Amino acid sequence: MFIIGVLFFVFGLIFGSFLNVCIYRLPRGESIVWPASHCPVCKAEIKPWDNVPVLSFIALCGKCRSCKAKIHRRYPLVEMLTGILFAGLFLKFGLTGEVITFLFLAALLVVITFIDIEYQLILNKITLPGLLLGAILTWQLGSVHLWQIGLGLVIGGGSLVLVALLGKGLFGKESMGMGDVKMAAMIGVFIGAKGVAISLFLGFLIAGIFSFVGMATKKVNRSSYIPFGPFIAGGTLVYIFWGENIITWYLMYAGLK
Ligand SMILES: [Zn+2]
Repeated sequence: MFIIGVLFFVFGLIFGSFLNVCIYRLPRGESIVWPASHCPVCKAEIKPWDNVPVLSFIALCGKCRSCKAKIHRRYPLVEMLTGILFAGLFLKFGLTGEVITFLFLAALLVVITFIDIEYQLILNKITLPGLLLGAILTWQLGSVHLWQIGLGLVIGGGSLVLVALLGKGLFGKESMGMGDVKMAAMIGVFIGAKGVAISLFLGFLIAGIFSFVGMATKKVNRSSYIPFGPFIAGGTLVYIFWGENIITWYLMYAGLK
């Protein structure tokens, strides 16, 4: 169990390294398979021994070997995060079909989050293939009925369309983009209608706490733009790891159990 957990962690580190390539190249319209990794400043090719997840960043003191330009701290961060998520998913779900589905979902959420933070964009070329992949995985591995997958899609996308319309009606400004809607639809396909509804609720909750703390410490004001994708991703991960506990706790609290 421990050994396999470590393997999942290492696999996550390596996969995180690939996700870094996606995060850097997809918004720039570059290919994710070609050319080999190079320094964005001096264009020097990165040698395999300088491309070891996290360790190379530490060994190089966070600087390019050729030009000494700073390497973005996002690189080791994404690798560590993916490693922790992969190991955590294995510990939670074991070697099941479910775990494969969640590994893919976690990877998609990591890429969407970091691109959204930097560009305030959720790309169709991630959410739409993600949606298709989610449908195939849950259908084949989770033996979920197609109508349930469709329902997840509609509930996920639909609730954010409602929120967007409400936000426009109440505050007269765009609170949510179509990218968020497609992201929620994709999550709905992966974890179903109930899952996506609770995940979105948790996402709003986390966003609310974040804005409250941000305003209290004057780091955020009413007009600052806060990308919503990372909060949806956060809510979804909280649901995947602790959703059942939260539901049980809530039912007990509400006196229904
Ligand atoms: Zn360089």
